[in-house]
Amino acid sequence: MGFKLGPWGPRKSAFDASTIDAPPPGNRPARESTREAQLACAQCGAVLSYAPGTDTLKCDYCGHTNRIEVAATEIVEECLDTALSEGIGDAPMEATRTVKCGSCAAEFTFDPAIHAGSCPFCGHSIVTDTGIHRQIKPAALLPFLLTDREAQERVRLWLQNLWFAPNRLKTYARDQGRLAGVYLPYWTFDSKTRTRYRGRRGDYYYVPMQVRSRVNGRMVTQTKNVRKVRWRPASGEVSRFFDDVLVLASRSLPTWMTDRLEPWDLIGLKPYTPEFVAGFQAEAYQLGLDACFDVAAQKMREVIAMDVRSAIGGDVQEIQRMDIQHSDRTYKHVLLPCWLGAYLFGGKSYHLCVNARTGQVQGERPYSWVKIGFAVLAAVIVAGIAAGIFLGTR
Ligand SMILES: [Zn+2]
Ligand SMILES: [Zn+2]
Repeated sequence: MGFKLGPWGPRKSAFDASTIDAPPPGNRPARESTREAQLACAQCGAVLSYAPGTDTLKCDYCGHTNRIEVAATEIVEECLDTALSEGIGDAPMEATRTVKCGSCAAEFTFDPAIHAGSCPFCGHSIVTDTGIHRQIKPAALLPFLLTDREAQERVRLWLQNLWFAPNRLKTYARDQGRLAGVYLPYWTFDSKTRTRYRGRRGDYYYVPMQVRSRVNGRMVTQTKNVRKVRWRPASGEVSRFFDDVLVLASRSLPTWMTDRLEPWDLIGLKPYTPEFVAGFQAEAYQLGLDACFDVAAQKMREVIAMDVRSAIGGDVQEIQRMDIQHSDRTYKHVLLPCWLGAYLFGGKSYHLCVNARTGQVQGERPYSWVKIGFAVLAAVIVAGIAAGIFLGTR
């Protein structure tokens, strides 16, 4: 019994159909292309797959390698306002054959070269062919850098270093696990922002006050400086340009997990070519541009609030109002690489994912209550000893 991918059994779907934006309607037959499902080896005709960390396609049968011609084009950002007002605007589209998981509703590209017919997200084996799917074509992607084996090694180390993990799990971690290579769909947003704000600036000042307190068992009156805040109204304007604010365009993985996969080295983005996806699966985006821009705008708002606080100055600040204006908003669709897996422990499955650029591992984990119990006990003993030393030296 080893550590392996799935079967994870039916999981409660984290996917709420009522809150999902319909993908932007394709009301304009814009620039369109079809993703080749298979790329054949020039030497033996077998199906090729992308070799992580290289710029070649490799044949698993005869070892022949084929160089990927990366287009010398710039990565293009599309106008968001056009897309929101006219459906997709004139963004390039791509038709891909996708399958949908009956358990977690993840939708991803169908690739006959990937023999596993199960869902890379939840391990469920029932995936249905949803046919040809038209979507905004990815503008760019970060190709896989870590191979399956390298990702497995990161997972093994991660499992070994888990605090409070039961000892038996560390034994499991020595076995080999299979991981599924998936490109996750993201939107990135740029925006020029101008924000008018109103609030208050607080400056500290100190006033001497008579304070009664007990010193060596006697009540005495002492003069102490007590801190007060002098508030004054503050208002003004700040501006900031946001570049490539990332928002995950699906709900197949929990956000706490995907958020912690950051940072992504977006500087390494390559113009999209289907060759980089060969041998991997790519999840189709499920969340539309408007809902995802709202998430991005919230991220921007937090940064702007810090700008406003520093513009107000003083020791403490209160923001009463921020009117944020966005302009020159652009977006692009990018694919980011992850190795997904799960390990079984005590009849329960735990999901994990590896950032296939940095090797960062995030995952669910079991806790050993025995170990936690001992740690708490140890902390109490240490505190007791410290208190004893402290009292003893008085
Ligand atoms: Zn070949
Ligand atoms: Zn699934």
